[in-house]
Amino acid sequence: MSTQKNIVILGSTGSIGMNSLEVIGGFPDRFRAMYLTTNKNIDLLQEQVDRFRPKGVVVLDEGKACELRKRVDGSVEVLSGEAGLEEVVTREEVDVVISSLVGFAGLKPTVAAIQHRKRIALANKETLVVAGSLITSLVREYGVDLLPVDSEHSAIFQCLVGEDRSRVTKLILTASGGPFLNVPAGEFAALTVEEALNHPKWKMGNKITIDSATLMNKGLEVIEAHWLFGLPGDRIQVVIHPQSVIHSMVEFVDGSVKAQLGLPDMKLPIQYALSYPERWPMNGARVDFPALRSMTFFEPDRDKFRCLGLAYDALSLGGTAPAVLNAANEVAVNSFLARKISFDKIPTVIERALTLHKTRSNPDIQEIIEADHQTREFVGTLL
Ligand code: MG
Repeated sequence: MSTQKNIVILGSTGSIGMNSLEVIGGFPDRFRAMYLTTNKNIDLLQEQVDRFRPKGVVVLDEGKACELRKRVDGSVEVLSGEAGLEEVVTREEVDVVISSLVGFAGLKPTVAAIQHRKRIALANKETLVVAGSLITSLVREYGVDLLPVDSEHSAIFQCLVGEDRSRVTKLILTASGGPFLNVPAGEFAALTVEEALNHPKWKMGNKITIDSATLMNKGLEVIEAHWLFGLPGDRIQVVIHPQSVIHSMVEFVDGSVKAQLGLPDMKLPIQYALSYPERWPMNGARVDFPALRSMTFFEPDRDKFRCLGLAYDALSLGGTAPAVLNAANEVAVNSFLARKISFDKIPTVIERALTLHKTRSNPDIQEIIEADHQTREFVGTLL
């Protein structure tokens, strides 16, 4: 029996954060939710505080942090801002950091956590997309475990247990195809925010749901897989699999293919990232093969879903290019969500930003942050 592990959840009021608390709540002897954080959703955070009794919380928004301090009346420590995030992930008593912030914001606290030798359960794929080289070298330098929480990468990770990684020939990432799989490209300009947020298989936060509708999510996952598993882009294949039962696959030198299957529920990859190398019980529905009857697979339509190709381009350009891809995408997605641009303009904006950017190779964190800021500014003027 392992001793109790103290956990920080970066972004506990988001979709991954809430699922993480469900998992943690199922193993009260093994885990304690030590610190919880939110951007500004203090109502939900307060409920989480009442239920999970963390030692402290961080509210990114200063005004909301003040408001919460008055409400909780000293019963829990309330920190604020980016400094607060960096403070809690580096504290001595913390063992594991679940990194589930949205977008670029996840980078700095994740770096700080690695430098303080915490186990990282990584749900924030943007961190690896923008700074994969930096993060993977820090992980080696500090000898920490970096465990993927993204369902596809958890699947690949599970397929690789007990395998020699140099015997891998190909990674096959599955994609549900999102809500617009069967919508003709000619109709993309008229698609609404509500239609884009209506994902057929996964219930997730807004940003990742839009990314799933454009297939940028899969593009970001290709880059994430490259950094996690060390294969070049031309050996990472994306396959549309609308049933979302196979979460991803690994092909080996002898032609054997291993797949990990399960129902779409983020609690499984979260729990595995926390329990690894052990596998613990989890309640819930199971895959019912006779009821499933069939599984289908096909090639993604890259002319229709241009974001996928742009992500492969950014990966092969390397250096600061993926940071530019990510920043342009974040701004474009927010503009779409704010109904300022149409759905079909998302890839157009990203392509412009990538084309005009002069890629810098082997960037340090400052250069990555600069590329991110410059891109946001540039895309802001475009829109
Ligand atoms: Mg995923």
